[in-house]
Amino acid sequence: MAYTLEGSTGTWEIVCGLEVHAQVISRSKLFSGASAAYGAEPNSQVSFVDAAFPGMLPVPNAECVAQAVRTGLGLNAQINLWSRFDRKNYFYADLPQGYQISQFEHPIVGTGVVEVTLADGSVKQIGVTRLHLEQDAGKSLHDQDPTRSFIDLNRSGVALMEIVSEPDIRSPEEAGAYLTKLRQILRYLGTCDGNMDEGSMRADVNVSVRKAGEGFRTRCEVKNVNSIRFVMMAVEAEAKRQIALWEDGGEVVQETRLFDPTRNETRSMRSKEDAHDYRYFPDPDLLPLVLDPDWVAQLKATLPELPDAKTARFMRDYGLSPYDARILVMEQASADFYERLATGRDAKQAANWMMGDFYAGLNRTGRSIETSPISADGLGELLDLIADSTINGRIAKEVLEAMIDTGERASVIVDQKGLRQVTDTGAIDAAVDKVLAANADKVAQYKAGAEKLFGFFVGQVMKAMAGKGNPALVNEALKAKLS
Ligand code: ADP
Ligand code: MG
Repeated sequence: MAYTLEGSTGTWEIVCGLEVHAQVISRSKLFSGASAAYGAEPNSQVSFVDAAFPGMLPVPNAECVAQAVRTGLGLNAQINLWSRFDRKNYFYADLPQGYQISQFEHPIVGTGVVEVTLADGSVKQIGVTRLHLEQDAGKSLHDQDPTRSFIDLNRSGVALMEIVSEPDIRSPEEAGAYLTKLRQILRYLGTCDGNMDEGSMRADVNVSVRKAGEGFRTRCEVKNVNSIRFVMMAVEAEAKRQIALWEDGGEVVQETRLFDPTRNETRSMRSKEDAHDYRYFPDPDLLPLVLDPDWVAQLKATLPELPDAKTARFMRDYGLSPYDARILVMEQASADFYERLATGRDAKQAANWMMGDFYAGLNRTGRSIETSPISADGLGELLDLIADSTINGRIAKEVLEAMIDTGERASVIVDQKGLRQVTDTGAIDAAVDKVLAANADKVAQYKAGAEKLFGFFVGQVMKAMAGKGNPALVNEALKAKLS
């Protein structure tokens, strides 16, 4: 079902394209040897190149170039063996060079595609227009002093990938799904940590609206949105604003806007600048970037297995549903955890325990797979105790909770708490006799045809055995005695 918005003049469709800035994972900056690490003392990671001292020359960082190529390969995109760095000229206090080194006409990566799965199970391809490398600017700090602003140049010169999508996105959900998938691919590739809180990934959200069958109308660009949820909210808020404007007889003018999440609205920041406003020209300090096809092939050969391929393999090898496979593949760490857990065990049962009680326990204690007190082998030991009938499933839930709280091994908890399942038929028969004797009225009803009461008897016997009875044996004993 296509997503639409209703206005007073009829039905509207959203058109949206995203420009994502993703900070490259690398030890040093794009054109200097200064550290690119996050969170250091202001201005402690600034080389003469980053501070634009006269006469300093940029030297391309091969690792940043490799990261851009890996990302292009991961997006099934065209790798351009010949690309070029251009100067994008503008003046701002946090830009000491007076220009940003970027790639304008000849980006390192051309068209690609990102495949997203929506909530209704449908699959959609979102086109990638291009990916180019560029420098980040410094940061202005306005909240350190009442009358002055400070500049931190640590970020100046850090490598960014700008990944531009085609205007293929048609709903807030699709915008969220695209960003989620893109972030997942970059994290799998190890080319960007995708940490939106720290600003290592941020999106410019381009939005227009149109009536069915129309060409594109004028768009607005909502700058620097820093969470996936805010991107989805911004798409909707901006589309609604434009619809109201068109229907009011007004006209959308192309401009740059900001999203205010607390008021759920966008507001104008500045009129849109065009490419010619930046006076782009080839950077005379840098040669064109020429890549060796063998080097590209080598990068391709060493790419990790990516989410789509892994999802397909999990469905094939472990018999998982598409939904379960996608959840487990969400993060590399959860996929690795699952594979270790499922190997040599009932794969479906492993998935159920991992996504059910195990994830619930992590949630309850505010932890993630990375900080889990239980390893895959530890959870596996619990599943083995169920498989060899040492404990039953109900007791296993209790053991798992204790494992999460204490970090203790499953077998140790089972022994400490005396939770071993009772398979001794003598003990089970005794418990059954006791329950039936204490509920003579219910036994009579059961025998008169109230078969629903069987569950009641099972519950009572289990209770009498502190939950430790083997469920199959308890059922068997009850059936025998009640017939
Ligand atoms: P610029 O470089 O000026 O920002 P681009 O042509 O590179 O412009 O487009 C930037 C983004 O805007 C792309 O993600 C593209 O998909 C999107 N876009 C282009 N036209 C429209 C439109 N009419 N409505 C919504 N998004 C659009
Ligand atoms: Mg733009």
